[in-house]
Amino acid sequence: MIDVPLCIGRTLPSPDTLLGRRAEVVADVAGRGFIDDAHPLCGVIDLDTLDELMAALTEAYPTDMPALHTIAAKAITLRPVLARFADAGFGCEVASPGELELALAAGFPAERIVFDSPAKTTPEIARALELGMSFNIDNFEELARVDEAIAEFGEHGSNVGIRLNPQTGTGAIGAMSTATTTSKFGIGLSDDRERIIEAVASRPWITQLHVHSGSQGLSLGHAAEGVRLIADLAQEITTRVGRQQIRRIDIGGGLPVNFSSDDITPTFADQRAVLKAAVPALFDGTYTLVTEFGRALTAKTGTIVARVEYTKQTGGRPIAITHAGVQIATRTVFTPDAWPLRIEVYDPHGRRREEEPQVQDVAGPACFTGDMLAVGRDLPPIRQGDLVAIPDTGGYYFSTHFSYNALPRPAIYTIGSDPHGRRRWSLARRAQSIEQILAESGEPSLVPLPA
Ligand SMILES: *Cc1c(COP(=O)(O)O)cnc(C)c1O
Repeated sequence: MIDVPLCIGRTLPSPDTLLGRRAEVVADVAGRGFIDDAHPLCGVIDLDTLDELMAALTEAYPTDMPALHTIAAKAITLRPVLARFADAGFGCEVASPGELELALAAGFPAERIVFDSPAKTTPEIARALELGMSFNIDNFEELARVDEAIAEFGEHGSNVGIRLNPQTGTGAIGAMSTATTTSKFGIGLSDDRERIIEAVASRPWITQLHVHSGSQGLSLGHAAEGVRLIADLAQEITTRVGRQQIRRIDIGGGLPVNFSSDDITPTFADQRAVLKAAVPALFDGTYTLVTEFGRALTAKTGTIVARVEYTKQTGGRPIAITHAGVQIATRTVFTPDAWPLRIEVYDPHGRRREEEPQVQDVAGPACFTGDMLAVGRDLPPIRQGDLVAIPDTGGYYFSTHFSYNALPRPAIYTIGSDPHGRRRWSLARRAQSIEQILAESGEPSLVPLPA
């Protein structure tokens, strides 16, 4: 098969473009009154950047190669944004009943959904078979359940896969690495190689192998090595059963994102080039490739904008108290070294401040000392009423709200070009109201249960 030449980064926005879009976003957020006393914080997704990232992924792979690119739902559980992925022909990777229903509601056809939870219940397995959606079995006990479900259900349209742990070791962030010797995910390839081959060979309905070596902090080479081991296994299964049983190889997600500047690096094209060098067999048309990227498709699209409520000096350190903290930037606040975020300072009208930087702390609104977005950061002097913008927050930040202090989920807006090239605003998710917080905080009084 002839390889299509790479056009590295052809559709990707330049750092200047991203910076310019963000300047427009913050000015509009200020000008349109999205931030007020009741809503001192909001999130924005730039749909133009999103479309460009989707196109960059699609174009990184040869058009004559069968591929299903899915968006990992957990990165962006916003229904109208997921709908945009569905409209663009993407599939959706889901890992819970809620994510599954969200994917269906967003318009993904079942055959483009991949269900990956490590804790699937019996009814969830039955539902996957009923819908004909793909799913990846996590362990031998689940395999036994799937045996029973298939015996009962009979003919089905699902691509049933096995999730394998290539056991290639940890990346830079332990909590995000799933290919360690003892990771909780999948079946260990070196632990159980023979048993896996036998399990697959005796079940002709297992047609897919899955590997996802981790998220962020994992080098391209490390991830590609995991895929190589899985492709080798697929080949060995073909030899063993005397025909090609494995039809799809699902390489998961995990392309890391650069959080330190507006450079989009590594690109999907970079990732694909490393994969091609490590696993040529993946590109010869034998297999349908499935991908499950989350962060790399979304992070660069998002900006948190928050108002600075107060500033003060404590122990000689200037501190700005903002409305963006642990409720929206949970991982950054709890593990700041693993998840640092940039912070930009704008005046109340949304104009970027350019003054000489000074060392400052930027705090969130929550009642615990660790609720800091940045400590000892060089930033233009922050004043009361300013806006801080936090780039690269389109992935996970809007979908992983932490309801500490009963702080509400903020509204999420989108901006994107209409067919005439004019940038238009939309609402993707309403802010959580105080009434909703009350309603979700339990019954008005204890509900007695039968003795
Ligand atoms: C989280 C996850 C992904 C997405 O990971 P990213 O790092 O966001 O690309 C893909 N597949 C599985 C199984 C996951 O758990």
